[in-house]
Amino acid sequence: FNTGLYINGQFVEGSMLNQWGSPSPVLSILVSTAALLGALFAIDRFVATGKIITKVAEATSKDVDVAVAAAHKAFETTWGLNMGGAGRSRLLAKLAQLMEEHQQELAALEALDNGKTFTWAMDVDTTFAIDTIRYYAGWADKIHGQVVETDERKLSYTRHEPIGVVGQIIPWNFPLLMMSWKLGPALATGNCIVMKPSEFTPLTAIRMSELIHEAGFPPGTFNLLTGYGNTVGAAISSHMKIDKVAFTGSTLVGRKIMEAAAKSNLKDITLELGGKSPNIIFNDADVEQAVNWAAHGIYWNHGQACCAGSRIFVQSGIYDEFLSKFTEKTRSLKVGDPFDLDSYQGPQVSQLQYDRIMEYIQSGKDQGATVHLGGDRVGTEGFYINPTIFTDTTPDMKIVQEEIFGPVGVVIKFEDEEDVIRQANDTVFGLAAAVFSQNITRALTTAHRLKAGTAWVNCVNQLHANVPFGGFKQSGIGRELGEYALHNYTAVKSVQVNLGHVM
Ligand code: NAD
Repeated sequence: FNTGLYINGQFVEGSMLNQWGSPSPVLSILVSTAALLGALFAIDRFVATGKIITKVAEATSKDVDVAVAAAHKAFETTWGLNMGGAGRSRLLAKLAQLMEEHQQELAALEALDNGKTFTWAMDVDTTFAIDTIRYYAGWADKIHGQVVETDERKLSYTRHEPIGVVGQIIPWNFPLLMMSWKLGPALATGNCIVMKPSEFTPLTAIRMSELIHEAGFPPGTFNLLTGYGNTVGAAISSHMKIDKVAFTGSTLVGRKIMEAAAKSNLKDITLELGGKSPNIIFNDADVEQAVNWAAHGIYWNHGQACCAGSRIFVQSGIYDEFLSKFTEKTRSLKVGDPFDLDSYQGPQVSQLQYDRIMEYIQSGKDQGATVHLGGDRVGTEGFYINPTIFTDTTPDMKIVQEEIFGPVGVVIKFEDEEDVIRQANDTVFGLAAAVFSQNITRALTTAHRLKAGTAWVNCVNQLHANVPFGGFKQSGIGRELGEYALHNYTAVKSVQVNLGHVM
């Protein structure tokens, strides 16, 4: 079986997933559980039941050294400046094609591992991941610098060179999607990768390693190390021979990554961190639409979205109507088995995450907020939580200030525009924001005044491979997606040529 480590073009200790060959991969994983005893592995559970699916290799810091050496070798010999843009483009396009051929399988793994519904994993996670890889396949042969005019006796130009070996550390909420956001621009620009997926959701990353292998990327170009953050993750972020680290996860860990980078080789970093996004709904909004979008904003992916619209500000003139319709909408969302095609919301990702969310709900009650709807678990097994609405909050409450990362929204009444903008910006985060108004001037001036990397107008959670995404303030450093992400993975070199200037 596959231990989960893919280093230098090899699955280090054989491959469970390689042996699938069966049309029913999900079944194969469950069946193979019995064969997995006795090794040094992290346990991966099916979050709908809490039962063990499989065990996955637990890499050590020594594995990081081996992977980094393989990545450097590939960078110097087969990748980096040794492979032209057209070659990189062909390989990425092949990878996108293989992902498309295996889309159902990837979606099933995602539902099994993360608990998100199979339907969403098909329609959003896998579709968007494929689009992202294909989009960056398109960029790979279009990376270029500029000719800079100086004087007639000089030729000056810039080159956008790959940075080298990059460490990439990703979270569990969109495992495959976050992987594709990282892989696409890094490989398109010629970098080699040492990646660590979340210990909670390593399965799609393992399967992707096989597809990367099958696509024909040279050994060492991409290396996957499954394992824990405080061992493998820490070894990556403090490694002296990793030139850059790209991280997506919590602000707490982002801080540690930045510190490790500063204390080691001052490696370049990009950070995509947490959020507490405001969703502002003015009196002149289309209320039906605002209700639907607001529900999508907070409940999408079980509230486990960095850009979740978790603070819903509603103007007093429509507050009662909005709350009543939003309550009705929330009640209609079916919580259930991720493989049931009717389910809107599956279980949370882990016991840990379930406990954290329940603690936040308790803190809301303790601090005097009203549980307007939900606030409790669903069923007796798995980590299911009822979509929850809090009202009667005050700005200092933990549920208003901190990222809950669960299906818990606060609905806050406001009177005027100035006041809501002040409240919306009163957070350490700045990832995303949304505004609902039929008045284009009000909508756009508000969007411009919100301190957030993305501002949606009359919609929420809209993401595209070609539109940049990232945070202001403590929500991050750098931008993913679009042309902007290429800057994260290239170093600019200036070349100056003397065409006859005599000293
Ligand atoms: P997390 O920070 O706990 O873990 C993220 C990754 O970091 C995991 O792979 C983990 O193993 C690793 N890690 C943990 N400790 C580490 C350490 N000391 N050194 C190096 N790596 C370490 O986050 P999570 O719980 O997996 O994901 C949820 C968080 O991710 C939320 O805060 C969410 O907002 C954020 N997120 C942000 C974006 C974005 O684009 N801004 C996207 C998705 C998720």
